[in-house]
Amino acid sequence: MNSLWKKDMEKPDFKSFSKAEKTDVLIIGGGIAGILCAYKLNGLGVDCMLVEADEICSGNTQNTTAKITVSHSLIYSKLIDRYGKEKASLYLRAQTKAKEEYERLAQTIDCDYEKMDSYVYTLRCLEKIKNEVSALNSLGVRAELSDAGELPINVLGAVRVRNQAQFHPLKLLYNIARELPIYEHTKVIGLKPGRALTNHGEIIYKKVIIATHFPVLNKHGLYPLKLYQHRSYVIALDGVEAPSGMYVDESEVGLSFRSYGNLLLLGGGGHRTGKQGGCWRQLEDFASEHYPGASVVAKWAAQDCISLDGVSYIGKYSKATPDIFVATGFNKWGMTNAMAAADILSDLIVGKDNPYAAVFSPSRSILCKQLFSNAFESAVGLLTPTAPRCPHLGCALKYNRAEHSWDCPCHGSRFSENGELIDNPATDDKKGL
Ligand SMILES: Cc1cc2nc3c(=O)[nH]c(=O)nc-3n(C[C@H](O)[C@H](O)[C@H](O)COP(=O)(O)OP(=O)(O)OC[C@H]3O[C@@H](n4cnc5c(N)ncnc54)[C@H](O)[C@@H]3O)c2cc1C
Repeated sequence: MNSLWKKDMEKPDFKSFSKAEKTDVLIIGGGIAGILCAYKLNGLGVDCMLVEADEICSGNTQNTTAKITVSHSLIYSKLIDRYGKEKASLYLRAQTKAKEEYERLAQTIDCDYEKMDSYVYTLRCLEKIKNEVSALNSLGVRAELSDAGELPINVLGAVRVRNQAQFHPLKLLYNIARELPIYEHTKVIGLKPGRALTNHGEIIYKKVIIATHFPVLNKHGLYPLKLYQHRSYVIALDGVEAPSGMYVDESEVGLSFRSYGNLLLLGGGGHRTGKQGGCWRQLEDFASEHYPGASVVAKWAAQDCISLDGVSYIGKYSKATPDIFVATGFNKWGMTNAMAAADILSDLIVGKDNPYAAVFSPSRSILCKQLFSNAFESAVGLLTPTAPRCPHLGCALKYNRAEHSWDCPCHGSRFSENGELIDNPATDDKKGL
């Protein structure tokens, strides 16, 4: 099922890698994170090269809903509680800078960029919304309490942040990518210090950025414990009055709303990958109840990597790997986080201090409740006796009825019914499915 973004888009073509090459910075993965890193480094005159296993933007980026906002659910009240106001403020400034960079790019690249207010609403607990408004205000953002009155549901309250944006992600990224040194259909199958082995030969690098969504290097950094994947579903509805703002529920399993032209993009039905959830059925039921007469013109799904504390992992892959960098764990806020990653990683690579680097450091303390939950899921997956096993770390795969795929509840790898790899961190097909 294709997202709206793919429709009528002409993708620039890139050759696959054909002979041994050298580069100062190798970027692995051609989603939004990899492309923005390549764009930034290329702009700084750094010798870099991006390799993409399939085609650029063929991963989760083509299935995003592309809302650009600094208001990431209820992150600021949580960050202030956990890390204090200074770190929360740095997180905010990194996201604000990223948002402004999109605004700058959209002045010369036609990408259906529209300024919009963003809303985080609740159906369950007004107190949380009030706390987030106060947290944002204390950090200098003019957030307001709103009733989100245009939604067809009984919202208790919402945090409104003005002047955020929405756009067409592929229009922007295809345009940017055109001028970049990119090889498609070039998959990295092994990484050694200074050398990456691809399906078409070897690349000698000085530094490498892993932008493969879920990091594919298991040996360092404990990413299988520090991340899980959360899947969500989207339908595009015609014949509905599209909302004038962008809305997300503070609950992980709630709904999101944005417009694209005269369409409504309704998101939700989410669940940990490999578990049960509402899927498209929940969205279609909601649409028949609240938008009778509307028709579904497209539907798609994607998943994102969820970090332990709601903050992405951007920086050195691990303390033991000084030349390997990573951008992952965007918690469904990959638009500004990928732009922040390009800013932070390009500075780290050219040896410049970056004021935000410490907040996103992948080596920060990982002792959170979610760590134990991830460890528990892995133990259950490993100990489940029957069912096909995931080639990543051996967890039991679960059948996803909505999408006819085999999904791993531990780390989120997915396979078609024929065993073809759809989503990483697994790097190979599942044989014998
Ligand atoms: C339903 C949904 C809605 C969302 N809406 C929003 C939103 O409104 N706003 C927002 O900010 N964020 C949103 N997000 C989050 C955002 O879409 C993601 O965080 C972002 O797209 C992830 O980009 P990425 O570059 O990390 O990953 P991807 O786009 O998945 O790119 C990774 C690339 O790496 C390639 N790759 C993998 N392994 C290798 C290898 N070994 N060699 C070479 N290449 C490799 C893959 O083929 C892929 O193309 C949403 C997420 C979901 C699930």
